[in-house]
Amino acid sequence: MNQKHIIQDIEKIITVGIAKINEPLKTYTHTKTGGKADIFVQPGSYEEVQGVVQYARKNEIPVTILGNGSNVIVRDGGIRGIVLHLVRLDTITVTDQKIVARCGAAIIDVSRVALRNSLTGLEFACGIPGTVGGALYMNAGAYGGEVAHVLQSALVLTSEGELLRMGPDDFQFGYRRSAFADQKATVLEATFQLILGDQALIQEKMNDLTFQRESKQPLEYPSCGSVFKRPPNHFAGKLIQDSGLQKTRIGGAEISEKHAGFIINVDQATATDYLNLIKHVQQTVKAKYNVDLETEVKILGEDE
Ligand SMILES: Cc1cc2nc3c(=O)[nH]c(=O)nc-3n(C[C@H](O)[C@H](O)[C@H](O)COP(=O)(O)OP(=O)(O)OC[C@H]3O[C@@H](n4cnc5c(N)ncnc54)[C@H](O)[C@@H]3O)c2cc1C
Repeated sequence: MNQKHIIQDIEKIITVGIAKINEPLKTYTHTKTGGKADIFVQPGSYEEVQGVVQYARKNEIPVTILGNGSNVIVRDGGIRGIVLHLVRLDTITVTDQKIVARCGAAIIDVSRVALRNSLTGLEFACGIPGTVGGALYMNAGAYGGEVAHVLQSALVLTSEGELLRMGPDDFQFGYRRSAFADQKATVLEATFQLILGDQALIQEKMNDLTFQRESKQPLEYPSCGSVFKRPPNHFAGKLIQDSGLQKTRIGGAEISEKHAGFIINVDQATATDYLNLIKHVQQTVKAKYNVDLETEVKILGEDE
């Protein structure tokens, strides 16, 4: 099936959202790198997500989910098949001490809604630039908090295209991993269970975490946050720093001087620059310390 036929079919499913051909993904990734999506769809409802996933399954077209693109590197050859970009599904509602957020809502916005309602538990998320869906998939966390501590239930679309409500026994959270990733499920909605707290204290904690983040991270440059997972008994940033790799540059990608765990886009970097620099870091740290650095960032798509 060619792109023209697929987009015509998808336009029959999508009435609220939008669908495009050959959309450059560098517009949507935090590293500002990456090739094009064959078919790029921003669904406007759960029904549209389900419709596209079922259509793709029937026609054996691969589907890739993109949230806010803050933890991905899309290779320069782009992504074949359909990319579902879920940011239009972004409503957030509060009932008592629960917050229900759709997958495309920014987790930062959810933490602000929690603050406004004097609900504690999501302060850790106040500087994580991802969507709710991406945060569940990654079990995002910071400064001792993580999604696993506050998630009560999730509505997902299985890879077979069926809607399923998952509870705490199903999440199988680990360090930056979850059952949503293992099962290739699309997260549609999350229900967070929070606790009534003191608004001034919640605000104070969020201010403190923001200060720590701004003073330690190179937020003035495009990046994908911490590139590597924390290896057992080590810190990735410290190993990279001790290897003397800070400011090492390949093409337009550079290891940050401010935070060695970050690779920043200093001058029109390509995804290939990022991937070559990642490989260089892994090889250097392995040679010096015999430690394998595994990427936290998800690498999607194909080479040029
Ligand atoms: C400056 C900076 C600071 C960061 N700080 C932190 C931090 O402190 N802690 C932390 O944990 N992370 C941090 N990150 C990484 C990132 O923000 C988180 O991992 C975030 O949860 C990713 O969400 P996203 O929507 O951007 O996901 P994306 O990057 O778009 O996608 C990440 C993965 O999730 C999948 N995915 C996305 N949405 C869905 C969905 N609805 N259903 C199923 N799968 C989905 C994608 O297919 C992909 O495999 C940081 C990133 C940056 C750039």
